[in-house]
Amino acid sequence: MSLSRFSAIETIINRQSNEVEEVVTPSSKISNFFGANVFNDATMKEYLSKDAYKSAKKSISKGAKLSREDADVIAAAMKKWAMDRGATHYTHWFQPLTGRTAEKHDSFFTLKPGTGEVMEEFSGDALAQQEPDGSSFPGGGLRSTFEARGYTAWDPSSPAFILEVGEGKTLCIPTIFVTYSGESLDYKLPLLKSQSYLEEAAIPVCQYFDKHVERVATTLGWEQEYFLIDEALYNARPDLLMTGRTLLGKHSPKGQQLDDHYFGSIPERVYAYMRDLETECHKLGIPVRTRHNEVGPGQYELAPMFEEVNVAVDHNQLLMDLMDRVARRHKLRVLLHEKPFAGVNGSGKHNNWSMSTDSGVNLLSPGKDPAKNLRFLTFFVNTIQAVYNHADLLRASVASASNDHRLGANEAPPAIISVFIGDTLTKVLDSIENGGEMDADAVEETLDLLGKIPDLEKDNTDRNRTSPLAFTGNKFEIRMVGSTMNCAAPMTVMNTIVGAQLRSFHAEVSKRVAAGRAENEAILSLLQEYIVESKAIRFEGDGYSDEWKEEAAKRGLGNTPNTPDALDAYVRDSSRALFAESGVFKEQELEAHYEVMCENYILKLQIESRTLGEMVVNSVLPAAVAYQTELAENIASLSDIGLGEEMYAAQLDLVKRISEHINTIKTNVDAMTEARRVANEKEHAPDMAKAYCADVKPLMEKIRVAADRLEYLVDDQLWPLVKYREMMFVR
Ligand code: ADP
Ligand code: MG
Repeated sequence: MSLSRFSAIETIINRQSNEVEEVVTPSSKISNFFGANVFNDATMKEYLSKDAYKSAKKSISKGAKLSREDADVIAAAMKKWAMDRGATHYTHWFQPLTGRTAEKHDSFFTLKPGTGEVMEEFSGDALAQQEPDGSSFPGGGLRSTFEARGYTAWDPSSPAFILEVGEGKTLCIPTIFVTYSGESLDYKLPLLKSQSYLEEAAIPVCQYFDKHVERVATTLGWEQEYFLIDEALYNARPDLLMTGRTLLGKHSPKGQQLDDHYFGSIPERVYAYMRDLETECHKLGIPVRTRHNEVGPGQYELAPMFEEVNVAVDHNQLLMDLMDRVARRHKLRVLLHEKPFAGVNGSGKHNNWSMSTDSGVNLLSPGKDPAKNLRFLTFFVNTIQAVYNHADLLRASVASASNDHRLGANEAPPAIISVFIGDTLTKVLDSIENGGEMDADAVEETLDLLGKIPDLEKDNTDRNRTSPLAFTGNKFEIRMVGSTMNCAAPMTVMNTIVGAQLRSFHAEVSKRVAAGRAENEAILSLLQEYIVESKAIRFEGDGYSDEWKEEAAKRGLGNTPNTPDALDAYVRDSSRALFAESGVFKEQELEAHYEVMCENYILKLQIESRTLGEMVVNSVLPAAVAYQTELAENIASLSDIGLGEEMYAAQLDLVKRISEHINTIKTNVDAMTEARRVANEKEHAPDMAKAYCADVKPLMEKIRVAADRLEYLVDDQLWPLVKYREMMFVR
């Protein structure tokens, strides 16, 4: 029982007789503590003077610049509030391109210069800007040409919060992360810019229908899928520790076939974890509401109410951090990887995206009023047209080494971008398409038709689960996003492409109106043209089928299953023009972003490939050799006692097969090492990423197949790695 595999299983079996971790909630009523650790509106009212509160609000809602004095006042209030709650430190909290969050803590405590008097301090300057020595964060070469350091700057549109880790409490200030000269080094600055860009483009379009609209925000409701695994099993698998997924392992005879996990009753230990996590979320104002089992054994999902995109992104990043911390308290590990286990479903993070006005109108929500439905139709059709124009960019925004295991793998949206809208809306668009010329009569008829759009029940539109982008009643659900990802990347692209589309729509409608057409006529005639033009992107059938791949190729839709190829879309001419025009990425920011995404891909594959090499050489091969030796000794002794070869033919066969697999592994590990060496010599990150994808990745697959065959052949008692069936079913 010396193998770590068996001691891990023993640990869990002993654990079952123990109590489930106790969960302490501040109150059974969530409203009693929701947002208790957030510097929110109510707190600001309490801690700020009336004037300071007003300027803070202005800066939060309108992005107005704060005066130095106001910043000092707000900082002092934040400090008082945080210290009243036991916080000792503060940090700027930011989202570098690593995909997770970063923080560097400073104490409020300081010594007064000269006198050495001990005091607690937090100035407006410290609130507004910090200079973490960020030279180790990915910057895609931006900083070598500018300045080595990165700077964080306060983003007042996302509220500060107190993070509790054990007994420690830290005031966290959401910030953007930029170079000395202001180039973005993070996910947040492009997101904020894309949000303003879309808002500016959407307001004049909204005003066709309601003159009073002054603000448009994009909204995001994410759905986070994840796996849980006992920490003992996790620690016994080097691949989970190093890469977050299993790089080898024979499939379990029973996986998810029986669908006995999906929406099943939640195991007690997991239930305790969920309650604990939800409590932490609620204290931080993350409005999580939904929890359930997912399809894969050990897979779950968590979803909040939707929020404005900026805050929703911060909340999801914070959530992923909390998930990890809380899991450890329960002796569990959370697997956020898109594909922790081959052969069972992977994890996604659906991004539900919509736009809403300051008057609370969801612009993608159809109603019973025909006039209002023209507004709905305008935003709906423009969004489809935007996706049609920039599908490659949307695909690029969800590209990563880990998400490559999902997209196009016949259980998740395909790598072909298409839009599903359901029967009812298809009929509406078809009849507009076939309605002939948009004269006054046709407009009348169309408005009449729009009046008949029945309230779109979710059931009408949510049936097709194979679509990467589905309209689900009052929002678009982007299903390609991976479970580990920062939602900001796809949200930035969505906002930018729709912003650009709405701008061009508004310009063209204005032209037609100037040429003497009635406004509704101008709007509808243009929508009609879009409906025809973007028709190729609409697909209502089975996105997993091979027929769709053929059909999509005929329609001229892209299908890029690999990240390095997909990422090229960022630097295509159409994207460069779009980002430059919108100001979301400056030219050098875009290059840097592209470079970092390629580097992330390379590093992920490099780590996986090295880990796999070590695992097969240090664990799989020794086990195979040991078993083979036993077999050989057995054969020798059977032969010694005078038995003929036919009496140990099975053993001989096993010995030979084991040798073949050992040779396959040895040859391919050598080839893989060489392929890495060659790839590493490429000068440019995009070329290196492509070399890893083309030359290293296929060898990893070959090695895995051979290792999994050995797992099937070798004595269970000698097999050192925790098996799939154990990771999925031993609890
Ligand atoms: P489900 O798909 O789980 O049955 P819903 O369709 O009501 O349930 O919501 C799914 C997700 O969509 C939730 O996370 C929710 O917050 C989000 N959502 C609902 N309305 C909007 C909206 N207008 N904008 C963005 N997200 C939304
Ligand atoms: Mg949903």
